[in-house]
Formats: sequence, C-alpha cells, structure tokens
Amino acid sequence: TFRAWWIEKNEDAEGTTQQTASLTDLGPAALRSGDTWVDLAASSVNYKDALALTGGAGIVREWPLIPGIDVVGTVRSSDSGLWTPGEHVLLNGAGLGESRHGGLAEVARVDGEQLVRVPQRFTPTQAAAIGTAGFTAMLAVLAIEKHGVEPGDGPILVTGAAGGVGSVTIALLAHLGYEVVASTGRGESEGDYLRHLGATDIVDRHELSDEAGKPLQKQRWTAVADAVGSTTLANALAQTQYGGIVTACGLAQGADLPATVVPFILRGVTLAGVNSVDAPHELREEAWTRLAQNLDIDLLDEMTEVYALADARSVADQVLAGSVRGRAVIDVTQ
Ligand code: NAP
Repeated sequence: TFRAWWIEKNEDAEGTTQQTASLTDLGPAALRSGDTWVDLAASSVNYKDALALTGGAGIVREWPLIPGIDVVGTVRSSDSGLWTPGEHVLLNGAGLGESRHGGLAEVARVDGEQLVRVPQRFTPTQAAAIGTAGFTAMLAVLAIEKHGVEPGDGPILVTGAAGGVGSVTIALLAHLGYEVVASTGRGESEGDYLRHLGATDIVDRHELSDEAGKPLQKQRWTAVADAVGSTTLANALAQTQYGGIVTACGLAQGADLPATVVPFILRGVTLAGVNSVDAPHELREEAWTRLAQNLDIDLLDEMTEVYALADARSVADQVLAGSVRGRAVIDVTQ
C-alpha cells in the first residue's frame, strides 16, 4: 500500500453533497491507468490544489481523486519504451489532480510520453518548488520575450507578486535583466523579499485592484505578467504602453474582466493567455530547459518552504488565506 490524499464526494443525511479530503492508505489498483509507475519524491500546494483540498468547487472532475497538479519522482517501471527505472521525471498540469490522479501521494501512474526529464541542475525538491507555478511563470516570460520585449525597454509589472507564480516570474525577469515592478498587497511585510528577488519598485495592489479606472491611463508598462485577473488586469491593460503585451494566467482576484477594447485598438496592446495544463510537450521541454538556465537556485530555495505529506491540508488553508509566501513544497516521503 501507499499513502495518498484522497478526495471523495459524499452525501450527508440531508442529501447535500460534501467533498472531503483525507490522508489514507491505498493499494495499487486505485491508480487507474498510465504506462509508467513513478515513485514520487515531492509535490506542491498550488492555488488549485488548495481549492481541491478544502472542498472548493470546479477543480476536481473525477471522484474519488488523488489531488496534486505537480508530480516529481523516479521511474519505477515503464511500458512506454521512453523511460528506464531510476530516471528523474516530472509532470505539471496535464489533468493531474483534476481529472486524473495527481502528486499528493507516494506513487503515481502516468503516461510516459507526457513526462519531462528533471533538469540535472535541480533536486526533486527544487523541481517541485518550481512546479506548475514556476512552469507557468516561465511560459509568461517566454510569451513576453517572443513578443520582442527586451531588457532596457522599460518596466514590467508583475501582479500577485508574493504568490508562487509572481515570485518565480520576478526572479526570472530580473535574472534576464528586465526592470521589474511588483504589485502586492503585502508591501510592508514582503517589500524586502520582493526586492531581494529582483523587483526594483513595489506598488500597492489596491491601486490596481480597487476599481476599474479609465480605459486609457498613463502608459507605465512595457509588459505585464498578471496572475490576478479582474479589475487588476483591466487596469494593467489600460496602463500598458503602445505595442506592449499583457500575459494573463490567473484569477486570484476574480475571473471577471471589467475592461474595454480601447487599449487594444488605440495602443495595439496584446493580451496573451497562458495555460500550463494543456501546454504541448515541446513547449514544456523549452520552458524547463529555460528554467534550468535562468532561474537562480538560491532565490528558489529562499522562496520555498517544505512540508510533510500530512501537512498538505493545513498548507491549503494558508494558501487560500494568502499567507504563504512563494512556494509550498510537499515532501511526500515525510
Ligand atoms: P498564490 O501563491 O496563492 O498567489 C496568488 C497571489 O495573488 C497572492 O499571493 C496575492 O499576491 C494575489 N492575490 C490574492 N488575492 C488577491 C485579490 N483579491 N486581489 C489582488 N491580488 C490578490 O497562487 P499561485 O499559485 O501563484 O497562482 C496565482 C494564480 O494563477 C491563481 O489564480 C492560479 O489558479 C493561477 N494559475 C494559473 C495557471 C495556468 O496554467 N493558467 C497556472 C498556475 C497558476 P500578493 O500577496 O503579493 O498581493
């Protein structure tokens, strides 16, 4: 048997459906399909995992389910013809922890063709610290680069700055030489942390999040990496300079977008969606290669807190309360 978090849907006496998460012992038959068995080393608690673990709606689509959108471990056996036992592999998204069993367990079964090799530069814990959040951050940075934005062009705004995606985005952009401005609601307590990651300036997130301002505002940003959505994204669009790009990956503030088309038609601003779940394999390889080249490992370690498997549920509460800084890794062997 192996230990795993297990999300079940039950009906109470009144017929109301409840989603519960518990740490339990499972047999191999619980792992439904996949040609490759992986002994897991680490996973993490992303925003999505936090919602799934606390009974939030809209994440889990198969019951019962092992949560965890990040998988990092060692191949035990593989019928894929692609991997041999002992190789270090990872997978982010791809339905893990949503429609198929994920990484908050000691063992996983996955499709070998989807796995990515853990770059030699990273330990399993570091690969999980990067996880979906860091992978998504890299996808946003790649989109900004591919748009032609270069260091020296002007400041880039990063929203949700002290969160997982935001923290890695700041570290990556600063390492590449871009000027980074961090938008955070934790300015007083986390200002030093964000500057240490590489932000040169900090703005109070309320300036962006409280109300949708005019459709065109003072041109401040050459690019924006947004993880927050809603009014924040609308204001970010209105403050982006002519020809700039805004990447959108998240909805920490809300899924709405109270914006106008004016920044697009009068300033040629590009709004680029970022999706980690269904990213094609080539893009995954590219992003992980670039993470190995461009992410400062010391900064990664500083933004990471490691917890035992049994702690995942309480870490989820902290993530939803906005009190986790950077990345929360789960050492599934502990
Ligand atoms: P996280 O660690 O919880 O960080 C989210 C951050 O957003 C918080 O730290 C906070 O930053 C800010 N925030 C929270 N509530 C806010 C509010 N009401 N108004 C304004 N800002 C608020 O989460 P994460 O893992 O970085 O993920 C961030 C978002 O990206 C989530 O919505 C997540 O679902 C999404 N995501 C999407 C993809 C994808 O493939 N598209 C992949 C990964 C994540 P400060 O404390 O600094 O203000």
